[in-house]
Amino acid sequence: MPLQKVNKIWMDGQLVDWDDANVHILTHTLHYGSGVFEGIRAYATSRGPAVFRLGEHIDRLYDSAKVFFIDIPFSRAELFDAVKSVISVNGLDAGYVRPLVYLGYGEMGLNPTPCPVRVAVAAWPWGTYLGDEGLARGVRLKISTWVRHDPNAMPVAAKGVGMYVNSSMAKVEALKAGYDEAVLLSHNGYVSECTGENIFIVKKGRLLTPPVSAGALEGITQDSVITIARDLGYEVVETNLLRTDLYLAEEAFLTGTAAEVVPIRSVDDREIGDPGPITKAIQDTYFATVRGEVDRYKNWLEYVTN
Ligand code: PMP
Repeated sequence: MPLQKVNKIWMDGQLVDWDDANVHILTHTLHYGSGVFEGIRAYATSRGPAVFRLGEHIDRLYDSAKVFFIDIPFSRAELFDAVKSVISVNGLDAGYVRPLVYLGYGEMGLNPTPCPVRVAVAAWPWGTYLGDEGLARGVRLKISTWVRHDPNAMPVAAKGVGMYVNSSMAKVEALKAGYDEAVLLSHNGYVSECTGENIFIVKKGRLLTPPVSAGALEGITQDSVITIARDLGYEVVETNLLRTDLYLAEEAFLTGTAAEVVPIRSVDDREIGDPGPITKAIQDTYFATVRGEVDRYKNWLEYVTN
């Protein structure tokens, strides 16, 4: 689905017209992938748009930048304002927000440190990432022939721009083979994550999800779901999973800001089936939470207008 254009994008402290939000062709990040980013969602609530877990996303942006020796030239408060302003100035009641920290035009070569650090924050309306049918009935996954980053080859705790070439290749491979999404295994053969989502399975009534040491990003949706599941009374364990754990799961789902909570129907054509009761309970609570309908998790919402 093509990007749905809105009026303004925040660039280095200014709101610029969408069509003028351009960069020089010698921008360092375009050549070497030397930047970091976030993916955030805002939801419509009875008090207007609210950004879900904004603080955690901005903290992860700074953490990602630290790993790559990038000093973000804006304060946390300025980035909070930037996110809120692209939602309000564009009149969005809900949408996806993309902060991008990139290295601009300065010097060429593999040392990024002489290049200016630039920051942009864009927002636009974005429906279900893996489709309405996927959200309701579950997606079909394929285990990728591409392996997730070895943590000593790429810093898996960071959302680095260039790291996503790995995810893109796995995504294209899965789509070309007729599946909805790919699962990547870690360098030592355990289940890691999907191309932009963490993964959960249900086994003997317990929820299992791979740890960061399996090369998975520490997902903010994953963290929300762990909290929600425990509060609903389910046991959750972070543990290494084998591909056969996916094939034989009682239920399975994936989590991510863009994808939200999406049931998994099958993995490599081994049927898991219709979304199960635990998946549905977590999905329902998650959607009620992001819309501000669950008191217990109200502190996860940052309202755009106070
Ligand atoms: N894994 C990867 C590789 C991702 O890009 C994302 C999306 N940020 C996730 C997992 C899910 O993370 P979150 O729930 O914080 O969006």
